[in-house]
Amino acid sequence: MVPGTGETTIFVYDAGGKVIAEYSTNVVPVQDAKVAYLTNDNLGTPRINTDANGGVIARHDYMPFGEEIDSLGGRSATDNYVVDDVRQGFTGYFDDEETGLDFAEARMYAKTLGRFNGSDPILSTGSAFNPKSWNRYSYSLNNPLLLKDPYGMYTCSDDVKGKDSCSSDNDKKFEAARQLAIRDKLAQIEKRYGEGSTEYQDALKAVNSYGDAGKANGIVVGFGTLDRGVLGETTGSLDKFGNKSVNVTIDLNQNKNSSDFLLTVAHEGSHVRDHLDYQGRLIALQNSSDANAIMAVVANAPTHGFSETRAFGVSSVFAEFTIGGNSNAPIDNSMGGVTFTLGGDPEKSIAVGGQEIWKSSWKNLDIKTIEGKRRDAIASGLKNDKHYGPLLNTPIEK
Ligand SMILES: [Zn+2]
Repeated sequence: MVPGTGETTIFVYDAGGKVIAEYSTNVVPVQDAKVAYLTNDNLGTPRINTDANGGVIARHDYMPFGEEIDSLGGRSATDNYVVDDVRQGFTGYFDDEETGLDFAEARMYAKTLGRFNGSDPILSTGSAFNPKSWNRYSYSLNNPLLLKDPYGMYTCSDDVKGKDSCSSDNDKKFEAARQLAIRDKLAQIEKRYGEGSTEYQDALKAVNSYGDAGKANGIVVGFGTLDRGVLGETTGSLDKFGNKSVNVTIDLNQNKNSSDFLLTVAHEGSHVRDHLDYQGRLIALQNSSDANAIMAVVANAPTHGFSETRAFGVSSVFAEFTIGGNSNAPIDNSMGGVTFTLGGDPEKSIAVGGQEIWKSSWKNLDIKTIEGKRRDAIASGLKNDKHYGPLLNTPIEK
């Protein structure tokens, strides 16, 4: 509601989260007030707005990066190419008439430049394999006909409507765990292993991979029931039209507490990174006619073995600062892992395939020794795990 005028505007969304109607109480006298129905194109841009009788109120055409075309090519008021009161413009962004910018949730988009006017809020998430992601102000990898960037972040599968992005209690828990990992745990990992270390870089990329603003990343976070012993799962696909998706599912019943949840968010984030890297390599070649280059990328697709090795490495590194690197910390009975007593000292650990990939007693070892123990435990644990073992040599995406 606008306080000054008392105007109330009601937006109506369909089950898929698309805006289908907008009502206002006092734009015009009540007897003249109209409903506007929006017909969207493939990017969610309202192109033809109609009234209650199906009569066309306005038509809107756009240039690839979102500049509206007013009078070119015979477009005129006769054919309803006129300004109307509907706020949604290019890809459904709210068009701010005062500044000429579009409201893209995390930042404003300047359609006249084809650029965001703020940098990607998560600076570390450009992919080294995808040069188009290096510019942190660019829009949709400069592929505006195919891709869009509705929120500048991952989306959530339990969203009721487009404007309620990731607002359920579970969604908030997810983001809180991710933020705790980013704000608190990363600094501890950096201090312990060093900025250039694989441990820190993998941890950093894992928790930041979700928020890949400006890349139209298509990451969807949701909650569901998974196989016993599997706390989270990430799948991805990229079709020949360039439509890509990465779906993260978390089983809340198997994540017993906040440290479980944080480790799962980080672990799945490592898988998200692998999917984005792989998809980015393919997208970078989408206009290439070099079949050999494309075949080479597909032939070198990361395997489950590669991706799980890195993801459990991330789990292990975060566990060091989450479930117990400090034997004086209170015991956190967590992770589906075990808490037990050994020689009178509390020992905390997490395991895969029966192998402990982090134990609190490792804290007193030097980094080289920890790295060796971690690598050996993950390798033999994955091989013996009934869920991961059979998949190790298969690619993460078909
Ligand atoms: Zn995994």
